[in-house]
Amino acid sequence: MFAVFAGLCGAQDARLDRLMKDILIFDAHIDTPRYFLDEGYRLADRHAYYELDLPRMREGRMGAVLFGIYAQPQDFAPRQFLPRALEVLDALRIEVGRNGKDMEFAFTSDDVMRIHKAGKIAALASLEGGHLIGDSARILRDFERLGVRYMTLAHFKNNVFADSMTDTAVHGGLSARGKELVREMNRMGVMVDVSHISDQAVFDAVDASASPVIASHSSVKAIAPIPRNMPDEVIRAVARKGGVICINFHAGYLNKPAYEVYIRNRPKRDEEVKAAGTDWEKIRRIQRRYYDYMPPVQVKELLRHIDYVAKLAGSAHVGLGSDFDGVSGMVPVGMEDVSKYPVLVKGLMDMGYKDEDIRNIMGLNLVRVMRENERRAQ
Ligand SMILES: [Zn+2]
Repeated sequence: MFAVFAGLCGAQDARLDRLMKDILIFDAHIDTPRYFLDEGYRLADRHAYYELDLPRMREGRMGAVLFGIYAQPQDFAPRQFLPRALEVLDALRIEVGRNGKDMEFAFTSDDVMRIHKAGKIAALASLEGGHLIGDSARILRDFERLGVRYMTLAHFKNNVFADSMTDTAVHGGLSARGKELVREMNRMGVMVDVSHISDQAVFDAVDASASPVIASHSSVKAIAPIPRNMPDEVIRAVARKGGVICINFHAGYLNKPAYEVYIRNRPKRDEEVKAAGTDWEKIRRIQRRYYDYMPPVQVKELLRHIDYVAKLAGSAHVGLGSDFDGVSGMVPVGMEDVSKYPVLVKGLMDMGYKDEDIRNIMGLNLVRVMRENERRAQ
C-alpha cells in the first residue's frame, strides 16, 4: 500500500499494517498557516513544495496536527505581532472549515480522539512566542477561547516573560511575570511550551508549572550540540514533570555538520529571501539551493534523536514536533513531508519498540499531556 511497505514480509508486514490501521499520528508543531494567509496556499491541493497538504496528510495517515501561529520577532514590528497572530489564526480556521469533509478544528483531547476515530484529521492551534499576546495573560485567554492549546514562552528573541535560547539572557530564565503567566496558563489549560527558551527558563517553567509542559519542537544536544537543542538535564526535567519532548526534524538540528553549513549560509540566504519580496516561487528556489549546499541528513538520524530521549527519559516522554513548513525546506532525506510518517513507525519497529511504545511516541504521549493540562485547568 505504501512504498515503505515494499520488501517487508510475513509477521512484520502484518504488524505494520495492523498498526497503521488505527494509530494516531499527532504532530506537535507545523507552521503551514501563514501560507494560507500570504500566498493563498490551499490544503485540498497536492503540492510539489512545502511539507503539508491534505493529500499528503492522508498518505501519511496523519491524525492530528497542532498548527503554529507565528510572527517572527525579527521580521515584524512589535505593533504587528498581535494583529498578525489573529490574522493567521483566522486563516487557519477558515482553511480547516473549507475542508470539513476531511478535517475538523479540535479544542480538547477528547475532540482529537473523536475526530480521529471518525476518520478525519484534527486541526489545533498554538502560539509561537509570548510576544504575540500584547504582554497580557488576558489576551492569551482570548486566544484560548479561539482554540489555542499551547504557547511557546519565547521565540527567537527574549520577551517580558522569558529568555530565548538564541538571545542574550536578561531575566536569567523566566521573569516574575513569566512565572505568573505559567501559573495562569495552568489555570486556562493552555500547555506551556518550552521549546526556544533558555535552559534556565525551562527549569523555571517546570518549577512554576502545576501541569506537565511540552517541548513542541526540540532535538537532542548530546547528539547535535547546537544552540536550539536540549541538553540531557533539561530533557530529564521536562520528563520528570510528566511532559513530552517532541523531536524537531530540521536536518540542521539533527546533525552538527549540516547545521554548520546551514548557519554559515543563513545570513546570505535571508538577504536573498528578503530581496525576493513576495515572489514565493523565487523564495522556494533560493531555499532549495541552500538546502543542496547542506550534506544530506538521513531519516535514521531523526530516529536516533527519538530513541535517545526514549532511552534517557522513557518512551512516555518523546513525541513528534516536525516543524514542517517552518524549516525552510531543510528536511531529512526520506522524511520530506507529512506523507512519510509511516517510515518512522517502521523505523521504530525495526529498532525493537513495542506497539504500545510506538503508539505513545507517534501521538498518544501528546494527548496524555493535553488531557492532564485540561484536568488541572480551573
Ligand atoms: Zn520554532
